[in-house]
Amino acid sequence: MLFKAAVLIKKNKIKILNLKKPDLKPNQVFVKIIYSSICHTQLQEIRGLRGFDKFLPHCLGHEGIGKIIEKHKTVKKVNIKNYVCLSWINSRGKNAGGIVYESENGQKINAGPVHTFAEYAVISENKIYKIKNEKNLKTKLLLSCALSTAYNALNNNDNNTSKTICIVGCGGLGLSCILIAKQKYKKIIVIDRNTKKLIIAKKIGGMDAYSSIDEIPASEKIDVIVECTGNIDVLIKSINLPKKFGGKVIIIGNYPKNKNIELDPWIIIDGVTMTGAWTNSKPFDQSFKKLEKLIKNYNLNFFFSRKLYSLDNFSKAIKDFEDGEIIRPLIKM
Ligand SMILES: [Zn+2]
Repeated sequence: MLFKAAVLIKKNKIKILNLKKPDLKPNQVFVKIIYSSICHTQLQEIRGLRGFDKFLPHCLGHEGIGKIIEKHKTVKKVNIKNYVCLSWINSRGKNAGGIVYESENGQKINAGPVHTFAEYAVISENKIYKIKNEKNLKTKLLLSCALSTAYNALNNNDNNTSKTICIVGCGGLGLSCILIAKQKYKKIIVIDRNTKKLIIAKKIGGMDAYSSIDEIPASEKIDVIVECTGNIDVLIKSINLPKKFGGKVIIIGNYPKNKNIELDPWIIIDGVTMTGAWTNSKPFDQSFKKLEKLIKNYNLNFFFSRKLYSLDNFSKAIKDFEDGEIIRPLIKM
C-alpha cells in the first residue's frame, strides 16, 4: 500500500512523496489521518531554525486527529476504528521510537514516533490518545499541542486564583492560555501587535488589551506573565514585568535554538521565578481527559481559517500561517 506524505527534503524544501506502508512493529498503530495542523515548531524545522537536522529527509507534523486502521497485537489501549488524537505529548504505553519508510522510488525517509502531514502514518502507541467520539474532531485537534501546553503551563505552575495574569502573544498558544486562564484568574491582560488576534483575544476573555508590553500602565501589578511570542526581544521585556516578591514568568513560546538572553540576577534575587509548561514527564492521559471535557461546549472555530487546506496545497498552508493570516491552518487529509 502507498500513501502520500509531506517530506522535508532539506531546509525550505518539502516534497509530497508516496511512501510504502511497512509491517507494524511492537507498540505501533497504523492511523488514517483525518485532520492535521501546523504550529511554530514545524515552521522552525522547515526554516532550519532548530539547529542541525540529522534526520533529513523526514516526515513532519505533531498534531492530528485520526482513526485506527491497524494495530500491532501488543497495543491494548485502542481498538480498530477508534478515533485518536495524535500528539508529541506522551500518554500511556511504550515508545516504539521512530521509523524509516521507503518511498516508491526506494528512498529512505525518516519519521519520529508521531507524524501527521500524511494520508496515513505509523505511530507509537504512547503518542495517541483515544478520544470519546467523532463529534467536533476539529476542536479536539487542539488537544494535540497548544491547548495541552497552555493547560500544563497554568495548572502546574500556579494555584492562586485571585491574581492578574498577562499573556504575551495571542497566536494559538496565547489564545489557548486565555481559555485556561479564564477558569482561575481575576484579571487577564493580553498583548499582541496584530490587531486581528487582539480582537479574538478580547472576545474570548482578554480584559485589557495592548499592542505592546510598553503600553501597560506602570501602576499595573502583574503576578504572572506567560510568554508565548517566540521573540527573544519581547521575552527580555517580559522577564522584567512581573511584580517583585512572588511574581512568575512562564515561558512557553517557540524561540529559535541557541539564542541566549542576558539576565539580571536581581530579578531572581527579588523573588521572581521562571518556569515552563512541562515540569514533569508523567503520561498526560488524565489531563487530556479533563481538557476534552473542558472544551466540549466551547466554540473554537476562531482558531481555524474558513479555508480548508489539503496535502497538495500544504505549502500554501505554511505560508498563510507564517504570514500571520490564520491562527491554525486546518489540513484535511
Ligand atoms: Zn505543535
